[in-house]
Amino acid sequence: MLGGMQDWPLRVMRLLDHAEREHGSREIVSFYAGGEKVRSDWRGVARDSRRLARALVRMGLKRGDRVGTLAMNHGRHLLAWYGAIGAGGVLHTINTRLFDEQLVYIVNHAEDRVLFYDKSFAPLVERLKPRWTSVEHYICFDDGEFDALLAGESDDFAWVEGDEREPMMLCYTSGTTGNPKGVLYEHRSTVIHAMMQISPDIFDLSARSVVLPIVPMFHAAGWALPFSTAMVGGKLVYSTDYTPAVMCELMRDEGVTHTAGVPTVWLALMQHVEATGAGLGKLSSMHIGGSAAPRAMIRYFTERGIRVGHAWGMTEMSPLGTVGAATGDWDELSFDQQLDYMCKQGRVPFGVELRTVDGEGRVLPRDGQSSGRLQTRGPWIIRQYFQDSNGPIIDAEGWFDTGDIAALHPNGVLQITDRSKDVIKSGGEWISSIDLENAAVGCPGVAEAAAVGVYHPKWDERPILLVVKREGGDVTPQAILDHLSGHVAKWWLPDEIVFVESLPHTATGKLLKTALREQYRDYKLASAA
Ligand code: ADP
Repeated sequence: MLGGMQDWPLRVMRLLDHAEREHGSREIVSFYAGGEKVRSDWRGVARDSRRLARALVRMGLKRGDRVGTLAMNHGRHLLAWYGAIGAGGVLHTINTRLFDEQLVYIVNHAEDRVLFYDKSFAPLVERLKPRWTSVEHYICFDDGEFDALLAGESDDFAWVEGDEREPMMLCYTSGTTGNPKGVLYEHRSTVIHAMMQISPDIFDLSARSVVLPIVPMFHAAGWALPFSTAMVGGKLVYSTDYTPAVMCELMRDEGVTHTAGVPTVWLALMQHVEATGAGLGKLSSMHIGGSAAPRAMIRYFTERGIRVGHAWGMTEMSPLGTVGAATGDWDELSFDQQLDYMCKQGRVPFGVELRTVDGEGRVLPRDGQSSGRLQTRGPWIIRQYFQDSNGPIIDAEGWFDTGDIAALHPNGVLQITDRSKDVIKSGGEWISSIDLENAAVGCPGVAEAAAVGVYHPKWDERPILLVVKREGGDVTPQAILDHLSGHVAKWWLPDEIVFVESLPHTATGKLLKTALREQYRDYKLASAA
């Protein structure tokens, strides 16, 4: 029996319809490196997205076809988001920091038919074009190409409708072992994630919010801010330039109230504010995630009257899992107790369930002591990767293993203690230990190699490479670095190469990475001095 209510499918384009209808004049500001500032509003975004959707359909885009973007944060990129989704396509945001082999893999695996890109990535596009097998249309955001495309279309277009469970966005994550994996978001999962995200304990967004997302739009759906800001009719401020001076200027000139990004960018901002005395304008809320937020950082911004939301999430979680919002007994806690709480990863909103399990899969108590594999489930959490032969990756009860190791506290607070996945996170981006190791053993004179992430104050983690030399070999650190340079991105290169006599192995002969991580946990990098 049905109840007495109406229904409509929870489709993402309804967010834009709402923003256009109810908050049409609320601004979208784009600052382009070099100094150009472009202003639009939700009405303009809706109109131009219809034009773009029309153009995409005319180019032959069919429902479910992937549309790639290789771009920084700006208003034209936002149009590509809503235009592609409105045309019935699946928006695929590509991480611009990946290196050639990964970019070739991802675009071919996604079978992108159209690729929008920033002019700054034109050399990369030219280089990889011959290896991208599915792309039929390349459209540059700059030099008038994108604008001319829009100008040539009418805005008479009705969004492609369909089921709320249809996919609308694809984000690849390299935070797993092996090839990058695609996470396919659905209209419904995205809309209910946005409903949760705007709520007071999470991002606390409203029609009064002015949001400056520092997190790139290609990273985990830009932490979903393009959707949640539309839902409330907030103002969006984008910048392709992240230097702290530009951020401070934008915050002041545009009245920014909310911002979000990884610890590395806030560290640079802190240093800039300290050195120059620059103000943060009306900033009232800052979300820090992607890596653990350091206590000194949380203290620094909290003391300046900013609400710091320490967030934990994953691309596989759309991406929000927890935020450290104030609790009922907040006012009774001392400032240091509040900081203790905020250094942990926070509490779940409705819609996310967490549990920790031991090595045998037994559920651990929420005692704040027992550490185990962190698992999660809920309606915006992954079921299976895109076109992955492994099929569903959740257990019979729907639990997804995050690859994080954590303790849950009696009050529901999550505390990440370690990671079981063999990856290194530097400045918010993943480095694959296995790829580094495989590249290193290809270097003459190297018998075996293990890449381990060690603490770095700026980047959170940096890789070091432990190397066992081949018998009688005389390989040097420089020779290994030179060899690696031909295989991995420059920012992946290990900060140090440490020669060791031997490396520990499991019974089956695999590198015992947990033991190595433990052993090198407190390793002091010269680059961190
Ligand atoms: P994002 O960086 O956008 O959160 P990713 O999918 O790239 O998404 O990375 C998710 C992983 O990053 C988590 O599984 C965890 O290992 C790590 N991570 C994210 N947020 C935090 C945090 N606040 N503290 C510690 N680790 C975190």
